[in-house]
Order: sequence, then C-alpha cells, then structure tokens
Amino acid sequence: MFEYAQRIKSLPPYLFAQIDQKKREKLAQGVDLIDLGVGDPDIPTPEPVVEAMKRAVEKPEHHRYPSYEGMLSFRQAVASWYKRRFNVELDPASEVVTLIGSKEGIAHFPLAFVNPGDVVLCPDPAYPVYKIGTLFAGGVPYLLPLREDMGFLPDFKSVPKEVLKRAKIMWVNYPNNPTSATAGEAFYRELVDWARENRIIIASDLAYSEIYFGEEKPMSILQVEGAKEVAIEFHSLSKTYNMTGWRLGMAVGNKDLVAGLGKVKTNVDSGQFQAIQEAGITALNLPEVEVDKIRNTYRERREAMVRALEKSGLEVFSSEATFYLWVKVPKGYTSAEFVSRLLEECGIVCTPGNGFGESGEGYFRISLTVQTQRLLEAAKRMEGLKL
Ligand SMILES: *Cc1c(COP(=O)(O)O)cnc(C)c1O
Repeated sequence: MFEYAQRIKSLPPYLFAQIDQKKREKLAQGVDLIDLGVGDPDIPTPEPVVEAMKRAVEKPEHHRYPSYEGMLSFRQAVASWYKRRFNVELDPASEVVTLIGSKEGIAHFPLAFVNPGDVVLCPDPAYPVYKIGTLFAGGVPYLLPLREDMGFLPDFKSVPKEVLKRAKIMWVNYPNNPTSATAGEAFYRELVDWARENRIIIASDLAYSEIYFGEEKPMSILQVEGAKEVAIEFHSLSKTYNMTGWRLGMAVGNKDLVAGLGKVKTNVDSGQFQAIQEAGITALNLPEVEVDKIRNTYRERREAMVRALEKSGLEVFSSEATFYLWVKVPKGYTSAEFVSRLLEECGIVCTPGNGFGESGEGYFRISLTVQTQRLLEAAKRMEGLKL
C-alpha cells in the first residue's frame, strides 16, 4: 500500500541474497557450516572495558541525555590516543566528535557537504556505506576502481576534469576492507596535495589501523603535512578492541568538517550513551599488550589459512593488515560461482568480491573472525579442494 521512497528503491540489489538462500538450505540439511563471510570479531571485548562499563552504568549522571558532540573526557582520550599512536595533535573541543559507531558518521557525513548532483569519489570494491551515504544525500557516486596492479590504490589523477569540478568528497580506506591493502606515506602525500589543489574533502576511514602484522604500522592521513586543511578521519573502537556491538567511534580532523558532521548529528541523534563513552576511555588507555594479544590471534589464523589456500593452489593477495584475506578465484569461475562451490563442497561461506562492487569480480573475501579451531577446520577442508 505504501511505496518506498526513490532513495530506497534505487538501492543496489542485495548481492548476497542468493548466498543467504543457499546457506539456509545447507543449514536445513544439517551441514556443519563455517561462516567466513562476516567481518565481526569473535573475540570478546577486553575484561577491563567490560568492568568499566559495569561501574559507569550505575552512575545516574549518565542516565540523562548525553552531549551531542560527545563527552569531553572521551574526546580528550581520543586526542591523547592519536598523539601517542600517530603523533598527531588534535584539539578535543573542536577537532573530535563522538560517533555512534563510525558507520553512523560515514553515512551522515555527506548530508553536511553534498548538494544534490554533487559528485562523491568512492573506491570500488569498498565498504558499501560510502556509496549509500552519497546516494541518500542526493549525490552522485563516481567509482574509482581498485586494481591489484596498483596495489589496490585508486588512480585519483585519472578523474576527468568535468567530474573533478563537481566532486566534493573522496573516500579512502587503508588498511582496506575488502582487499586488505595498505597505503604508505607517498600515497597520502600526493592525495593531500591533489585535494588541496582541487578543493576536495578527503574522508579517510581508518577502522583497521590496529589490525596489522608487519614492522610498519598503518598511518593516519593526518600525519601528512597540510592534511588538516582538507581531511576528516573516521575511526572506531569496533575492530581494535572487539567492540562492534557497543557502537562507539569518532571523527577527527579539520574543524569545519567535524563541525558540519556535528550539525547533522545534532539534528538526528542525541549522542552516544555516556557509560559507553566512559568504557571507551578505558579501551583507548588499555596497555598495548592487550591489543597485541588480539593481533597475535589474527596473525596465527592468517598464517594457517594462507598456507591452506596456497596448498590448494589459490592465490592470496599479500598483505600484513586487516582480518581479511582477498583471494583470486581460479580461472574459469566467476566470484559467485566459486563461492558457491566452496559452500557446496566444503560447507564454507565466503563473500564474493563483486558484492563490494563490480571491480571486486574475480576475487572472494575470507574473514578470519571465527575461533581458531574452526578456522583450522575450514583450512583443512579447503586443502582438499581439487581445482
Ligand atoms: C567495520 C568497518 C567500519 C566500522 O564500523 P563501526 O562498527 O560502525 O565503527 C568502518 N569501515 C569499514 C571499512 C569497516 O569494515
């Protein structure tokens, strides 16, 4: 009786529907499925954070409306964390805003800066929210393909002049979901110079900055000189501290960009529960050994899975970050066909690369967020694959 609005009707089709259907069939047949599809950490939130939450929830002052921009003490903890981790100075009062998970901020940000018809440069394949947030704001996504021969970095200099003139925001996300690629200083430096020249906002999604295994730690775009003139960075406690369910993130950087996002939020939400922000302060101040433990678990899983995949002749994109593996489908298959073979023959659920955008075709994504023992079982089943 009631028709959906155009913005809902024009959403891209749900590419996982077919997989979900098959998954239900397999489960109904009693197959012992191993789901490597979703990127949601299985390890619990560190105990000190849970304890801090228990104490905080008892405080009546937290039971009232929180402040729109977030508690100053949480924003101060974010600023100190950025200083410690990246040597980036942030003013907690004007350059940090608390988010109800970074997805919330990513989805709302275009509402503050994009007029109908404005272009937003979005990577492809990518976290779908960049494109959807653009569409909801009436903007036009212009896709920048991420290709393996470019290390999955976007060739932003190839964007045609007419498009550039209408472009307002460009999204980047390194360490990257889904490809696991990382970006170095030279990339960010060129990007910032280009953005200043062309007056384009750089929105950087740094959700995976702490999930790394190499010597070199992933960097923040704000470490580059001049970045604060053009950049806003979205970060989150979700992946670093296994807190996806808590919904706590932050946006930091250029104060006008932070304020613009704050204006949208003032009008659509009333901030995050202060007890959660207080627990977040504990998380941000956890000793590094706590995060090392999490990293070591993923490292162990990654090594086991890469070994198994290579034994069966599959090619994994070589990276030392994120809890994803980005794997080439063997010759003769589409992403969807191969993922469906994994489900049929191994009882393993993976995400087809094209689910993240057209340029993801030819790949599939494995998420390392299941218990190590189950992951080893999945690895064993895959070693038996005859390609
Ligand atoms: C998980 C994820 C996020 C953040 O999630 P929140 O839980 O909303 O903070 C952001 N970007 C990417 C690319 C992600 O994979």
